[in-house]
Amino acid sequence: DLWESRGHVEFDEVTFGYNGEKTILPNFSLDIPAGQTIALVGTTGAGKSTLAKLVSRFYDPSEGRVTLDGVDLRSLHPKDLRRAIVMVTQEAYLFSGTVADNIALGKPDASLDEIKAAARAVGADGFISALPDGYNTDVNKRGGRVSAGQRQLISFSRAFLADPAVLILDEATASLDIPSERLIQDALQTLLADRTAIIIAHRLSTVAIADRVLVMEHGRIIEDDTPEAL
Ligand code: ATP
Ligand code: MG
Repeated sequence: DLWESRGHVEFDEVTFGYNGEKTILPNFSLDIPAGQTIALVGTTGAGKSTLAKLVSRFYDPSEGRVTLDGVDLRSLHPKDLRRAIVMVTQEAYLFSGTVADNIALGKPDASLDEIKAAARAVGADGFISALPDGYNTDVNKRGGRVSAGQRQLISFSRAFLADPAVLILDEATASLDIPSERLIQDALQTLLADRTAIIIAHRLSTVAIADRVLVMEHGRIIEDDTPEAL
């Protein structure tokens, strides 16, 4: 009954411009094999977030197609698409509600045990348990305030629980203290295992753990290699 994606993503001669205006991606082709971790880097305005938005179907191509396991994203049932492809944005948004609610957004029927297991997997359990009401702490209430690094760990827990075949991550630019940085890096490794990942990377440490680094400029890939080679 449930369709399981393998996570093979392909851009097939995609042309895209916002509102059909200026072309941002001109005849863009890219094959991302299932399970590969891609670090996407490049100057501001190069089209990195645009590429990510096409994979998560915020937008559709003007020409060409983006496929998942060979199927045009437009032909997939929205429910299957949402399950298969998850995007974690830069802001690592928290919604009003408890920490547990925020993690469960990726899987609304999750039990508290599953929520805690996801948090443990990405190393978020420690600080959550230390909050005034633990997993029941309201993130908007006094005492429930969490740091930028902790917000990221909560959104990583959410993504881990959702367990998508394809994870897209627009990495936060905000600098973290060294212990948080380390925690996030470890969490990232766990989160990326056994799935396809496209990371808009701002940290050198993230580029280093990728299988493949793509350098984008003006909507084109100008370098495509392993981190070691670049
Ligand atoms: P950054 O590193 O700053 O995040 P980026 O590589 O993610 O840059 P994009 O956000 O993909 O770049 O933007 C690519 C181009 O598309 C830019 O010229 C940008 O101005 C334009 N653009 C982005 N979003 C929109 C939008 N919603 N409407 C119109 N144009 C947009
Ligand atoms: Mg961007």
